[in-house]
Parts: sequence; structure tokens; C-alpha cells
Amino acid sequence: MKNMNDIKHILRQQISSERFKYKLIIYSITMVHFVLLILFSLLHIWPMVIFNVGSIAVYFRCIEIIKRGYEHEIINVFYMTYWEIIIHSFVATVCVGWQFGFPQYIIGLIPFGYYMCATLLEGRRRYIIATSLGLIAALSFVACRSLALFAGSLFPMEFPVIVELLIYIFNSICNFVFLFMVTVIFVWDMQRITLQLRSQNVALDNMASVDPLTGLYNRRSMQDFFDQVMKVEEDFSLIMCDIDNFKRVNDTYGHDFGDVVLKEVAYIVKKQVNDTGWVCRWGGEEILILSRDRLDRTCETAENIRHDVEAHVFCCRGKELHCTLTLGVAGHGAGSSVEDTIKHADSRLYYGKQNGKNRVVTPYNSQ
Ligand code: GH3
Ligand code: MG
Ligand code: MG
Repeated sequence: MKNMNDIKHILRQQISSERFKYKLIIYSITMVHFVLLILFSLLHIWPMVIFNVGSIAVYFRCIEIIKRGYEHEIINVFYMTYWEIIIHSFVATVCVGWQFGFPQYIIGLIPFGYYMCATLLEGRRRYIIATSLGLIAALSFVACRSLALFAGSLFPMEFPVIVELLIYIFNSICNFVFLFMVTVIFVWDMQRITLQLRSQNVALDNMASVDPLTGLYNRRSMQDFFDQVMKVEEDFSLIMCDIDNFKRVNDTYGHDFGDVVLKEVAYIVKKQVNDTGWVCRWGGEEILILSRDRLDRTCETAENIRHDVEAHVFCCRGKELHCTLTLGVAGHGAGSSVEDTIKHADSRLYYGKQNGKNRVVTPYNSQ
């Protein structure tokens, strides 16, 4: 249930951050159109005034769509924006001429198109559409230049050079800000996805190496720790533990209570071993401890575990129970194999089971 809530939370966060970036782009473009609307009104270029009113209406519609939040509709926002920018640049160049820098906006469409297609479309389609739109943008840019060169402008006016320059600078700044925004959003997205993948990998790694009931390492992952200590030829010891009469616990109190006992025993063992070694669920209710401590201290740890389990009161649904543990300890000698050391620990555990249980059998107290 907790995982489900986490996933919902991540999805909600993702959707709201997606919406935020689309809104940011569309609000910025709408603002530019407001400024251009005022500019063209001052210059009395009425077709451009009408065009900009239409453009602003289109962007208001886009904002409405983004607010509605239907993912499949966002692609329409992208297409509307793309075509509006191309047609606007084209019409503005035809009306007032090349020198004001309106076609610059077409250049910014190439990264924008690839980014939006990559995030909103699936499969090969996204590259085909992005490339086609990019080619259309490139052709429009060239067409703008050719038209301005050969046909001139529809509203040839004598502006002071400074006005021409200021409008050109305004268009350049807007275009650079647009490119900057698209790039930052792209980098931010990449970082977010990388972080997400990294945390998913950690979670998967955890799932693959940890026993879900007890939170102890599983048998498979223990091999990595053996490899680790063998590589540095470190001395180590093993403790093999087994809960006494566990079948009876299950039979008398139920499997759920058995699980509670297992979890709590695992907790006690982990607490005692702390960072001196690794604790693994070796089998059903068998726990194997790989200790990097000296053998005598490992025997003390084993005795502490035995004592703590014996002293613990296990509770479940109002019932109480005492449990005990038998432990076999073996030191790993140079030249012997891990399998041999496990066998030694196991046979001491067996010896303990045969001789009264609830005891620690070590190389010091066994023959
Ligand atoms: P001994 O003192 O000789 O160890 O007797 P025992 O009854 O504990 O015998 P054994 O170690 O063979 O018992 C293993 C039992 O552990 C059998 C199985 O039902 C139980 N078991 C194994 N895994 C789980 C588990 O995940 N949860 C619960 N509740 N029981 C488990
Ligand atoms: Mg047992
Ligand atoms: Mg057992």
C-alpha cells in the first residue's frame, strides 16, 4: 500500500512538473505576442495586429488545454505553437521585411520540435515527425529570405535605423531566451530521469539481494560478501543459527506468529552483529552470520544473540511466547574453503541441537 502511494505521489509530481514546463513555454510566447501586438499597433501594420490577436487567442486555447491536463491533447498544443511560429515569422517578414529578424524564431523551432516529439510521441514516429517539421522550418526560413529579397515587403516604411535595430535585438533576445529555456528544460529532464533510474536501480538491487520478510540479505547475495572477504584474504568466522522447535511455534500459534518471531529474531541478530559482518537468511528459519571480527569476539556475539533471543518476549495478537536459538560457530582457516567452514558451523549447530538446544557451540567448547 505504501508503494502504491509512493508511485501515485511520483506520478502526480511528474504530471505537475510536465504541466509547469509547458505552461512556462506558452506563457512566454504569449507575452512576446503581446509586445509584438503593441509594436505593430504603434507602427500601424494592421494585418500583423490582427494576426497577433489571433495568435494570442490560439495561445489562450493552448493554456486551457494544458490546464485540462489530458496528455494526448498536449501534442496539439505543440503543433499549434509550431505552426503559429512559422506562419507568424513568415507573415511578419512579408509585411515588414527581413531586417527586423522575425525569421530567427524559426531556428529555435528545431530543438523545440525534437524535444517535444521525443517527450510526447512514441517509437520511430517521433523522429520522423521531428525531422519533417525541422525540414519545413528550414525551408520556411529560406523562403522568408528569398521572398524578402525578390518581392520586398508589403509595408515598406522608412524607419530610423535605431528602430530597426531595437526590433531586431528584441527578436534576437526573445529567440535566445526561448532556446535557453528549451535547453534548460531538456537538461533538467535528463537529470530527473537519470536520478529516477538510479533510485529504481537501487530499489531493484535491494529487492534482488534482501529477503522481504526479515530484511536480511538473501542466500544469493551472501556469495558476494564471501567473494569480498576471500579477495582480501581476510580472516572471518561464521555463525549458523536455527530457531529451536520452530515447527511447534507455527503449529501452536499459527504461521503469522511464526513470521513475527522470525522478523524479531532477525532484528536481534542484526543489532548484535551491527557493522562487524553480514547477516543472511540462509534457509527457512536458519540465519548465517559472516563475521569479520576475531573468533573469540564472534563467539561472544553468538552468546549475546542467544541470550537476547532467550530474554525476548515475542507478542502477536495478545499472545506471548518465549523462543530460543541454537548457534554453531566456526573460524575460517587459511587454505580451507568457504563450503568447509559452513559445514563446520553447521555440524556444531547440529551438535547443539542434539545436546539440549538453546546453546552456542564454538571451537572452544566442542570436541
Ligand atoms: P529444531 O529445534 O530442531 O530446529 O526444530 P524445528 O521445529 O525448528 O525444525 P526445523 O528447523 O526443521 O523447522 C523449520 C520450520 O520452519 C519448518 C517451516 O514450517 C518453518 N518455516 C520456514 N520458513 C518459514 C517462514 O518464512 N515463516 C514461518 N512462519 N515458518 C517458516
Ligand atoms: Mg529450527
Ligand atoms: Mg531449521
